[in-house]
Amino acid sequence: MRVAVIRGDGIGPEVVDSALRVLKAAAAKYGLVIELAEVEAGDSALSKYGEAMPSRYWGVIETSDAILKGPVGESAGEVVVKLRRGLDLYANIRPARVYPGVKALRDGVDLVIVRENTEDVYVRAEYMITSDVAVALRVISRRASERIARVAFELAKSRRGKVTVVHKANVLTVSDGLFRSVAREVASRYPNVKVDEMYIDSAVMDMVRRPQDFDVILTTNLYGDILSDIAAYVTGSIGLAPSANMGDSKAMFEPVHGAAFDIAGKGIANPTATILCVSWMLKWWGSRVGDGKYTTAGNAIEKAVLDALSSGAKLTPDLGGNATTAEFTGEVIKRI
Ligand code: ATP
Repeated sequence: MRVAVIRGDGIGPEVVDSALRVLKAAAAKYGLVIELAEVEAGDSALSKYGEAMPSRYWGVIETSDAILKGPVGESAGEVVVKLRRGLDLYANIRPARVYPGVKALRDGVDLVIVRENTEDVYVRAEYMITSDVAVALRVISRRASERIARVAFELAKSRRGKVTVVHKANVLTVSDGLFRSVAREVASRYPNVKVDEMYIDSAVMDMVRRPQDFDVILTTNLYGDILSDIAAYVTGSIGLAPSANMGDSKAMFEPVHGAAFDIAGKGIANPTATILCVSWMLKWWGSRVGDGKYTTAGNAIEKAVLDALSSGAKLTPDLGGNATTAEFTGEVIKRI
């Protein structure tokens, strides 16, 4: 499997380095064949090449099976939008769950946010129409709404069988109105999946008040972005949450958190989210090519992370411990 690696900015290189250490340990143990190809992207690439996602690297991206991406700083918008839209990675999947041994704001949370990833305000069509007035376009299409709804309903079938459609169709009657009606059409093809609907403002409140009640959340791009940060927070630390950007043949895995410049270079970032990205990437590849050893390795990494967290021995400061990124990584590797 060929993996393009973007180390990113801030704590990006630290957490990606940790995840690659884990990947290499798993590859050695399970006999995985992994080729890594480095891609420079982000703030440092912007100052070096004048482009945050330099075109010279696009060939590496396109010839890779998967992308492992660390967080990017100020230029995140440019990098992720180019990757998500350029590769048509239309489904952004963001699980949020409470891990054993981690003190969370709410217990018993196990939900997945399925966020449309290619349109909404992320088409980045913003204009100054006078020197004092700016407008932004929001695009919602039937095709994109339908394919993301299918992802959510398929996922719900393998989970607790419930989808909550989050929108603001009372205000955005046309654009969110279309998203809602397409979601209802798709829902009618899944009689065994329960569906409810919520306005984004109520969903945000419930994400804090009773997040245990959510199973799969289906939503548009911007609402999904906002909801997933809150979901990551209520489950203990933003440093724990992985995410995947899925297309029909390629996928990109990245932590939900940002570049966290406030703690960069101190060696204390929590690498869990990025390590779980590696686990997910291997499981995804295993099922894509039908090779069980990748799936086994992915499961082994996930189990090692859960064991390391629940042992509580070497937790990073965001989880109340005083271990370094490298020490926690060592705890995971020794359990693989
Ligand atoms: P973005 O806009 O890219 O999401 P941000 O600055 O709003 O960036 P983060 O970079 O995710 O958000 O940081 C939010 C807070 O969470 C910061 O205090 C940061 O230190 C903390 N944080 C983020 N990721 C981690 C991590 N992996 N380990 C520990 N703390 C983290």
